[in-house]
Amino acid sequence: MKTEIRQSLAEYLRFVRDLGLESTTLDPRLFAPANPAAAVESAPAAARSASPPASPAPGSRSASPPIAPAARRTVAASAGGAAADAFSFSIPAMPKTNDQVSRPVAESLSAIRSELGECTRCKLHALGRHSIVFGDGHAQPRLVFVGEGPGADEDQQGLPFVGRAGQLLTDMIEKGMGLARSQVYICNVVKCRPPDNRTPEADEIAACLPFLHRQLRALAPELIIALGATAAHALLGTQPGRGPLNALRGRIHALAISGWPARVLVTYHPAYLLRDPRQKKEAWKDLQIAMHDLKLAIKPNSL
Ligand code: SF4
Repeated sequence: MKTEIRQSLAEYLRFVRDLGLESTTLDPRLFAPANPAAAVESAPAAARSASPPASPAPGSRSASPPIAPAARRTVAASAGGAAADAFSFSIPAMPKTNDQVSRPVAESLSAIRSELGECTRCKLHALGRHSIVFGDGHAQPRLVFVGEGPGADEDQQGLPFVGRAGQLLTDMIEKGMGLARSQVYICNVVKCRPPDNRTPEADEIAACLPFLHRQLRALAPELIIALGATAAHALLGTQPGRGPLNALRGRIHALAISGWPARVLVTYHPAYLLRDPRQKKEAWKDLQIAMHDLKLAIKPNSL
């Protein structure tokens, strides 16, 4: 392989790896010599001796020759030293950290927030909203918490979970799970405060849910923890009032959000734990499931 082609291939591999992808397929035409005759000379004998491809059908827009199967091979290649005639290859797996988990290409959080704008898609916009509480935290988190909706403190500050329930959630994350709050992302099903902290109504959830789905798709965490029944039913698509929250706890639910394979664990809302502290030990069981799933060190602890 010529030096310039090898350099181009190495640069491409580095680019692909920087994107977080672990494998890719190359079209050999990308690296075809400028002189087609030279390409014929360098092609494998089997490909050269194969019958020429059929002419395109009249009116066909594709005049490019198909890639001969005999010209495709799969070999292992490192990002810095590709095999000379590799057309299809795998990049060795790299250790993943919180900042390096492979993520699907998705729209950015800022683009989603920008589209949300000064939202008037549901009646909550006209029921005393002070601010839209979009979400807060790490832009590429391994873990996302989803609550129900902003309360009075959140509405005033424009941030999720900053009141008493927010302090308990912070304790759950930091004292319970041993993470910094800044390592996770926190948001709600509805972005505007329901009056008197009532439960969001079905039409409000339906109006806001597409933005939560897009948010989660953009964040692509390894695990989502639904805080309370409203978040659990909204994420899982289950019917509120059909069975206790307990029935959804204790396991990780696999589901698809806009084609993205999400995983959801259900636990109690911190506001409920403040009202009934006896349930904290149950919430701690849920957090241990999450910690085991994320391979976080579990230490003797309780909330
Ligand atoms: S709750 Fe959601 S859909 Fe309703 S007004 Fe606020 S941002 Fe828009």
